[in-house]
Amino acid sequence: MMSRKAPALADFRRIVVKVGSSLLVDASAGRVNEGWLAALADDIAALHGEKRDILVVSSGAIALGRAVLRLPPGPLKLEDSQAAAAVGQIALARTWAEALGRHGITAGQILVTLGDTEERRRYLNARSTIDKLLEWRSVPVINENDTVATNEIRFGDNDRLAARVATMVSADLLVLLSDIDGLYDAPPDGNAGAKLIPLVERVTPEIEAMAGTSGSELSRGGMVTKIEAAKIATTGGIHMVIASGRIEHPLRAIADGATCTWFLTPANPVTARKKWIAGSLEPKGTLVIDAGAVAALRRGTSLLPVGVIKVEGAFTRGDAVIVRGPDGAEIGRGLVAYDAEDAEKIRGKSSADVLLILGIEGRAEMVHRDDLVLGHA
Ligand code: GLU
Repeated sequence: MMSRKAPALADFRRIVVKVGSSLLVDASAGRVNEGWLAALADDIAALHGEKRDILVVSSGAIALGRAVLRLPPGPLKLEDSQAAAAVGQIALARTWAEALGRHGITAGQILVTLGDTEERRRYLNARSTIDKLLEWRSVPVINENDTVATNEIRFGDNDRLAARVATMVSADLLVLLSDIDGLYDAPPDGNAGAKLIPLVERVTPEIEAMAGTSGSELSRGGMVTKIEAAKIATTGGIHMVIASGRIEHPLRAIADGATCTWFLTPANPVTARKKWIAGSLEPKGTLVIDAGAVAALRRGTSLLPVGVIKVEGAFTRGDAVIVRGPDGAEIGRGLVAYDAEDAEKIRGKSSADVLLILGIEGRAEMVHRDDLVLGHA
């Protein structure tokens, strides 16, 4: 098998950067590591200035809440951490707003629960909001909504949350800034022979074994959830890198070729996401479109209501549907942005009419191009 090379940071257009609590919060002093954050914000601003979309997944709500409330050290009960997060999230959001604001970048706070990423309808809603922020050139700052998350229905770690967010927004890179600079073939602490793996082409059982079991999670820098995140990201068409956040300017360091571990997605991002749409969902309905729309889709545009001539099936927003041409031939498949009833009301209508008919400002597209995969024809 031909071995692949580690990509360069400059190759990516939409990057999710996950920042862990231990980097952001100085637990002993009970405050944010301002200098470190300012340097990270410089790096983010540099990428943002190069027209890249940047999203931040930031932990630290519980750690900051603890500090503000002067809670004693040691593990917290769920309700204690929920209440601590309620206090700390305010400080966390302000911290990011200020750090990015110094570069003239507007931060937007998004708090998500597991349900928001698992349920397709809510997933699409969250994605629309994030898309809008990115369109406005804001940097979304995302965390789990810890105050309402219960033990059974929570991520609990921001590694997997960040991977889900990355797939949600069709990012092409997920950066996990960590207190360790990558994945080692053996626990690195007190083991001089442990070697860092620079490139993982596939998350094999052997790679998973290197992360250890959750029992040893702390001693290995939370590697178990990072490998879980790598699986989510790479099967979703996203490259991932674990890099040290223990240095100033950690993103610049990656760009300069710092030691880190890259996890490569087997396919290019769009293909993998589209494979998921094409292959793993059961179509719930059909949209028949006119010849003009067929030509437009082949040019890479989204499917607008105006091009739809017939709506069949009982689907809800976010369901997979088959798109057919006027002659009935399958053009492709995609995730529809409207329920069947609304789709029927707005088919053939201009985007301006859609607003009048539905009385709400929905998405202009019937199927967004990111959610559409065309067959070979
Ligand atoms: N959501 C948690 C917080 O903001 C952190 C989870 C994690 O550290 O992975 O405090």
